[in-house]
Amino acid sequence: MAKFEYAPAPESRAIVDIHSSYGLFIGGEFVESAGGGSFKTINPATEEVLADISEATTEDVDRAVKAARTAYRGVWGRISGADRGKYLFRIARILQERAREFAVLETIDNGKPIKESRDVDIPLAAAHFFYHAGWADKLEHAGLTGGGGAPRPLGVVGQVIPWNFPMLMLAWKIAPALACGNTVVLKPAETTPLTALLFAEVCQQADLPAGVVNIITGAGATGQALTEHPDVDKLAFTGSTEVGKAIARTIAGTRKKATLELGGKAANIVFDDAPIDQAVEGIVNGIFFNQGHVCCAGSRLLVQESVHDEVISKLKRRLGTVRVGDPLDKNTDLGAINSAAQLDQIRELSAVGEAEGAERWSPPCELPGKGFWFPPTVFTNVAQTHRIAQEEVFGPVLSVLTFRTPQEAVAKANNTPYGLSAGVWTDKGSRILWMADQLRAGVVWANTFNKFDPTSPFGGFKESGYGREGGLHGLEGYVTSGGDR
Ligand code: NAP
Ligand code: MG
Repeated sequence: MAKFEYAPAPESRAIVDIHSSYGLFIGGEFVESAGGGSFKTINPATEEVLADISEATTEDVDRAVKAARTAYRGVWGRISGADRGKYLFRIARILQERAREFAVLETIDNGKPIKESRDVDIPLAAAHFFYHAGWADKLEHAGLTGGGGAPRPLGVVGQVIPWNFPMLMLAWKIAPALACGNTVVLKPAETTPLTALLFAEVCQQADLPAGVVNIITGAGATGQALTEHPDVDKLAFTGSTEVGKAIARTIAGTRKKATLELGGKAANIVFDDAPIDQAVEGIVNGIFFNQGHVCCAGSRLLVQESVHDEVISKLKRRLGTVRVGDPLDKNTDLGAINSAAQLDQIRELSAVGEAEGAERWSPPCELPGKGFWFPPTVFTNVAQTHRIAQEEVFGPVLSVLTFRTPQEAVAKANNTPYGLSAGVWTDKGSRILWMADQLRAGVVWANTFNKFDPTSPFGGFKESGYGREGGLHGLEGYVTSGGDR
C-alpha cells in the first residue's frame, strides 16, 4: 500500500514572545539572581538558543522562601477559601485564554509535538486549576481531618519538577497547594523553564498577591538548596527515583513532609481475547506518547503467547505510519528528545538491549539533521533479566515479553522495583478486576492507556514514590488537621 504523505502544517510561532533573558520570580516580580549566574535553554528540535535563564543561588532560594512565608502569614493563610478559589478560577481562565501561546512555547522549549501540548498538556493544566479552584471553599467537608474540623494548610511548600510535562507538572503542584492555603516556591527543570516563567506572568495578570507563587530557575543545586532550606514545611517532588531518594535522605529527621512522584516501568498487558487493533493503538499511545518521556509509559509490553505474532506484526505495520519530525508541525506524532543527555541515555540502554540478546527493530524513518532524535524502537525476545526490562529508558523504546497465564502475567508485571502504572487489555470484565487487584501499581488502565484527569489520584507503589496527586487524595498532601504542627 502506498504511504499517505502529509504536506507540512506548521503552527506559527508568532504568538509567543520569548525574551532574551529572564530573571527569577520572587515576591511578585522578576528580579536578578544574587550570584548573577545564568544558563541557556534551547529548542531540542533545532538546538537554537532560546533565552538566558537566571541561576538561583542559595541566597535567592532564601529570598524566595522568605517571600512565600510573608505571603503565607500576611495574606494567603488568612483569606477565605472562597477568595482563594476566585484567584484559582481566574488563573484557570487565563490559561485557557492563552492556551495556544502556552502550547507553542512548551513545544519550542521541550520538543514535544504541538498536537500533544495543544490537546493534552495545556488543557489538562487548566483543568487542574479549575478542579482545585472548586475545592478551595469546600475543604472542611472533604473528610480530610477525620471529623476534626477544617483542615489547615502546611505553610510554605517547596516544589521541584522535571522536564517531560513542564506546564502540566507545574499545575499538578501549584493548584492543590494554593487551593489548600499554602504558598509555594517552585523550581522547573533546567531544560524547560519557559512555560513556568510565562506562568509567573499569568500570576501577575491574575493579581495574585505577591509571594504566593515564586518561581526560581536553576539546576540540581538550586533544587537541593530548596530541599535543605529550614523554613520549608513540605517538599513536593517529581523526577527520578535516584534524586527522590536523595531528597528523602536530606529531610529525614526534620519536621518537613514530602510527597515523591518518581520513575516507573509499567507493564501493558495484552490478553488473547483483547480487541487487537484497539490494543495496538493503546500500545503505541502507551510508549510513544511524548517520545516515551513519561513516568507511567507502557514501556514493557506483556503479550499472551498465542497472539504475540499477530500483535507484533500489526504493531510494526502501525509504526510505519508514525510521523517523526518538526514538533511544531500539526501532523507530527513523535517529536524531539528533550536533551543531548537524555538522547545519550536512550542510545546507551538500547545498545545494552542489543548486546544482551534482544532483537531490535525500528521502522524506516528519516531523522532531521539537527537536534536530538531517536526513532520509534521495539525490542522483541526480551528476557526479564535484561536491563531494558528492568530500567527506565525514558524514551521511545518498547520491550516486548510474553506470558501464557494470567498468573504469569501478574508475576512478570510486578517483577520490578517500580509500581506506578499498568494497562490490561481483555474482553473479560472479571479478569480486569482480578488483574487490577493483583497489580502493584498506583494506576491501572483497562482497555486504554495514558488517560489523565484532575479528579483521579495519581501516584506510585514501591520505588515509584509515595503520596498522591489529583483527586481528593491529592489534597491530603497539602493539609494538616492541626495537631502535628
Ligand atoms: P531528575 O534528574 O530527578 O530531575 C527532576 C528535578 O529535580 C529537576 O528539576 C532537577 O533539576 C531537580 N534536581 C536534580 N537534582 C536534584 C537534587 N539533588 N535535589 C533537588 N532537586 C534536584 O529527573 P529528570 O531526569 O529530570 O526526569 C525524569 C525522571 O522523572 C524519570 O525517572 C521519570 O520517571 C520521573 N518522572 C516521574 C513522574 C511521576 O509523576 N512519578 C513524572 C514525570 C517524571 P534539573 O532539571 O535542573 O537537573
Ligand atoms: Mg529547552
